[in-house]
Amino acid sequence: MWRTCLNWIPTMSNLFIRKILVDDICPSCGKWGESTIHALWDCKNLKAARSSWLPDKVAFKGLYFCFLNFIIYPVSSLNSEEFELFCTILWRVWCNRNAGLHGEQTLDTTDMVEWAHNFLVEYKSSRLGTPLSHHTNENGHVKWFPPCPGFFKINCDAAIDTTKLRVGIGIFIRDSNGFVMASSSQVFDASFSAQVAEAMAILMAIVFSNDCGLYPCVLKSDAEVVVNWIKKGSHP
Ligand SMILES: [Zn+2]
Repeated sequence: MWRTCLNWIPTMSNLFIRKILVDDICPSCGKWGESTIHALWDCKNLKAARSSWLPDKVAFKGLYFCFLNFIIYPVSSLNSEEFELFCTILWRVWCNRNAGLHGEQTLDTTDMVEWAHNFLVEYKSSRLGTPLSHHTNENGHVKWFPPCPGFFKINCDAAIDTTKLRVGIGIFIRDSNGFVMASSSQVFDASFSAQVAEAMAILMAIVFSNDCGLYPCVLKSDAEVVVNWIKKGSHP
């Protein structure tokens, strides 16, 4: 954010000014020069991201001539949590812009706000050891979001069959484009508790990811109790 306020990010306009590019046309809309404020806010192709949350929260009135001038409005009109979300959305917009520029899969702009919300929940949870609270869709299911470019995302889960004394463990590892890079499923005879089975799934997922050379990565498990034990380094 600091670099953005100082206009240090490599937008087309900044590269054009430094004579690295022959024009500064926005790679997304192809119509206007890509200044910092255009890349992060003004581009017409960001309308869905803007309209899905921000108009109700931010009184963007009057003229702004640059990003630093523009950021005065959210700084003065948002509370700290809203401003965190606002900055995270802008960060994801920039990541999305770079992913598109390099031919990688991008996040739909209508999902930006939900992605940013879930990212902040996971980030704060990892720092504070608090339970996760994700946005869910109309079916009550948590939506899968890709990790940041350059990261892999592990999803793992365990199931137990108490009648046949069997445990099943499933692992998926995807890249930031959502492509499955590796997967594993195992069923074996055991009579673990659900929490022990989930802990084993997490351990096996980390070992599997490391064996496949798929890192750095983030791991997602729905076993909140077990995840909190791991974060605290202890269990009852
Ligand atoms: Zn544009």
